[in-house]
Amino acid sequence: MIDQNPWTRAKLQLERASSQIKTDPLLIASLMHHDRSLEVSLPIMMDNGSIEVFQGYRMQHNNLRGPYKGGIRYHQHVSSDEVKALSFWMTIKNAVVDVPFGGGKGGITVDPKKLSSSELERLTRLFTRRLLDVIGPTRDVPAPDVNTNPTIMSWIVDEFSKLSNHFTPAVVTGKPVSNGGSEGRTEATGLGGTYTLLKLLELLKKNSKGMTVAVQGFGNVGRYIAEFLQKEGFTIVAVSDSQGGIYIPEGVGSIEDVVRCKEESGRLAGCYCVGSVCDMKNKNRLNGKTITSAELLELPVDIIVPAALENVITEQNAKKIQASIILEMANGPTTKEADEILAKNNTVVIPDVLANSGGVAVSYFEWYQNIHNEKWTKTAVFEKLKEKMEIAAQSVYETAQKRSVTLREGAYIVALDRLQGAWEKKEEKVVKKEQGILHSVKRFLS
Ligand code: NAD
Repeated sequence: MIDQNPWTRAKLQLERASSQIKTDPLLIASLMHHDRSLEVSLPIMMDNGSIEVFQGYRMQHNNLRGPYKGGIRYHQHVSSDEVKALSFWMTIKNAVVDVPFGGGKGGITVDPKKLSSSELERLTRLFTRRLLDVIGPTRDVPAPDVNTNPTIMSWIVDEFSKLSNHFTPAVVTGKPVSNGGSEGRTEATGLGGTYTLLKLLELLKKNSKGMTVAVQGFGNVGRYIAEFLQKEGFTIVAVSDSQGGIYIPEGVGSIEDVVRCKEESGRLAGCYCVGSVCDMKNKNRLNGKTITSAELLELPVDIIVPAALENVITEQNAKKIQASIILEMANGPTTKEADEILAKNNTVVIPDVLANSGGVAVSYFEWYQNIHNEKWTKTAVFEKLKEKMEIAAQSVYETAQKRSVTLREGAYIVALDRLQGAWEKKEEKVVKKEQGILHSVKRFLS
């Protein structure tokens, strides 16, 4: 089926946007393909002495605007086409939020929950050795994604630094602050999504007062967006993770308490909190309901926030979505068919390439601080993030309005326009270089 393959969908999105503005066909052809696709085998010794071989990928989509940049995902469903789509979306996203990076992405097909910490470290270090020749601060800069975190980033820095004979923190972003990371990177994607939503509500002249929100996925992105939206006065009525979720029409209570409960009990679906006491026993008192992650998307709320994996909003459930706004914090949560249904229903879809770009914006700040040996405060990071997200949201909104297209198409047009600009500059340089050579040859011959 077409829409289940994220890379096929990504190419259709590009095709559609390129028909809207004048772009060099050679640029489009280059964006339809990856500059480099790397597939590696990763045999490691397990703790019990057996050997297992994992498959890893690093896709470098395009570096017209700067070094390849994008996360590394550890998940049992990671595939070549998934990583290809994710790296393409990074090229678009980095152009939308206007950071000087191209697009890349990596992943290993593994369920990390089945590995011990030392097995995970051996796997990560071997993956780093396999990528040694193609990553680096000015080549390709990975970061965390699903199931990867600051500790894993530290292992990559350590392995890369050992093999290149000098400490190179800028080889990845999303490191612990104590090891060259930036203040505010952990919360950045969730906070960036919050700034984007607030700016767009202002532009759309919608009052956020009393709005209810359901968040699917409760990892790095989901928990922080829930926390920040709650601080801004939104009522979070439902949250879920891979094991299921909870729905409390009056609100799930303090997100910080829910986070603590999940960490202590290991199970989000039992976290019915009254004050700071979270227990399954509070469920009836709160009029709560245990729900699946799929049910969460169809709840009677104002905003749904997919913040887990791709392809969760499909042709099958799009018609049943009651929310008038979808804030795509996950990458690629909506299939092409679902997108068309939502557009017909006038549902505002705030696209992934804009909504979740706060993570890479602060990754850029981290990389910049590493390169220039600077340390910014969290307040400074958040101020710069707010400015970046508001500018990006405004330009996407204005482009969409001007051309009467969806916000997603607006975002692609903004990105393509900037990529075309970078392309023209590069072409100009090549022409000048060729003219310079020609001039020297003529002088030599005369
Ligand atoms: P994470 O590993 O920290 O968390 C993923 C969460 O999704 C977990 O709570 C997990 O239980 C949940 N989940 C998994 N399968 C699910 C399912 N079927 N239904 C409901 N929940 C499910 O990952 P993350 O960093 O929070 O990333 C989430 C999404 O955001 C991904 O699409 C990722 O590509 C995207 N993203 C992340 C960042 C970042 O900075 N981490 C930046 C931009 C985009």
